[in-house]
Amino acid sequence: MLTKTLTTANIIQDLQKISSGTITDSMNGSNITTFRIGGPLEVFVEPQTEEEVRQIVLYASHHSIPLHVVGNGSNLLILDGGIKGIVLSLKKIKFIKQEQNHLVVGAGETLPSLSIRCIKLGLTGLEWSNGIPGTVGGAVVMNAGAFGGMMQDVVEEVYGFNKRGEKVVLKNHELGFGYRKSILQNNEFIITSVKLRLRSGDCEKIKETIKKIAAIRDATQPKGKKCAGSIFAIPNIYEIGNKNFKWRIMRKIFSLLNKPQLFIPYMIEKYNLPRRSGGAMLEYNNFNWISNVDNATASDVLNLSEQVRKILEHELKIKLNYEIRIVGKEKCNYSATS
Ligand SMILES: Cc1cc2nc3c(=O)[nH]c(=O)nc-3n(C[C@H](O)[C@H](O)[C@H](O)COP(=O)(O)OP(=O)(O)OC[C@H]3O[C@@H](n4cnc5c(N)ncnc54)[C@H](O)[C@@H]3O)c2cc1C
Repeated sequence: MLTKTLTTANIIQDLQKISSGTITDSMNGSNITTFRIGGPLEVFVEPQTEEEVRQIVLYASHHSIPLHVVGNGSNLLILDGGIKGIVLSLKKIKFIKQEQNHLVVGAGETLPSLSIRCIKLGLTGLEWSNGIPGTVGGAVVMNAGAFGGMMQDVVEEVYGFNKRGEKVVLKNHELGFGYRKSILQNNEFIITSVKLRLRSGDCEKIKETIKKIAAIRDATQPKGKKCAGSIFAIPNIYEIGNKNFKWRIMRKIFSLLNKPQLFIPYMIEKYNLPRRSGGAMLEYNNFNWISNVDNATASDVLNLSEQVRKILEHELKIKLNYEIRIVGKEKCNYSATS
């Protein structure tokens, strides 16, 4: 039983009256995250329209059912016990409307497809986002960024609902943006669309910049891995030893040798950072990336990341905060039907 009055089956029946999208009790966290990790989701729903989203939010609020919003699950670690309540995916809320240099974009549009669309539209300002596998909604929540750009620079306002199903419009200055941070991380809002402020640009130049950025990503990031990007929120990984004289010298030496990319592996070896816990592995060239290499559990990932965090915080006298969002329960007291 989910609440005193509603069973999981009741909730599914009720949601079927609201939404024509996928509604199921047989989805796992591993089906909806790029980590491919996570326990059973009690009820998963993927509405097709903003109105369906509103109705689902109202329904959850009315019955006091916990509501968890997901985009593409590319910054999410769902714990092995899964998630109780309703998991609301915004992935199907997709549209792009142009108003001169502004775009109003559905929360489910992905950054790679949006940045490609910008080539055709001749709009510049989103080239940096091409390799980030998230939705626009998730990217605003996380203030995603790369190569000097971030969502904060292009978001004008966001539209959606609060947890009571009331419409909300939040302007850029109300979003509390910081490094990979926004007030939207308090889970009080469901973003259905975003207004972006771009600039008109030359299509060929936009295309060229995207190509260059893709090439850098290809050369520096682990490819085809089941992961969630950076584990910790670190503005510049190469500055990580900045407060320590010895590490500053070492970094200088690596850059004089024209091998700055070897600085991080050197650090990993020097501090003897653990490389593996169960099916989770720390990437050799980046202690901030963990991959699921062999049916890893969320506990494997957390075990490994906690060990890394403790060693680095102690050795480098820094504080590391998680960038990935960790959701769900550690232990499961119900099971999905699949
Ligand atoms: C290979 C790889 C490379 C990456 N590179 C980068 C990078 O260069 N820069 C970077 O910043 N990130 C990077 N990431 C991380 C990730 O892609 C971004 O944080 C992305 O913006 C997350 O979007 P998402 O749709 O996947 O969000 P999710 O992971 O689904 O959710 C993230 C958070 O946002 C909330 N959320 C999602 N959608 C909504 C919505 N519509 N309304 C309200 N809340 C919502 C969720 O509840 C959760 O708290 C990378 C990840 C991978 C796997």
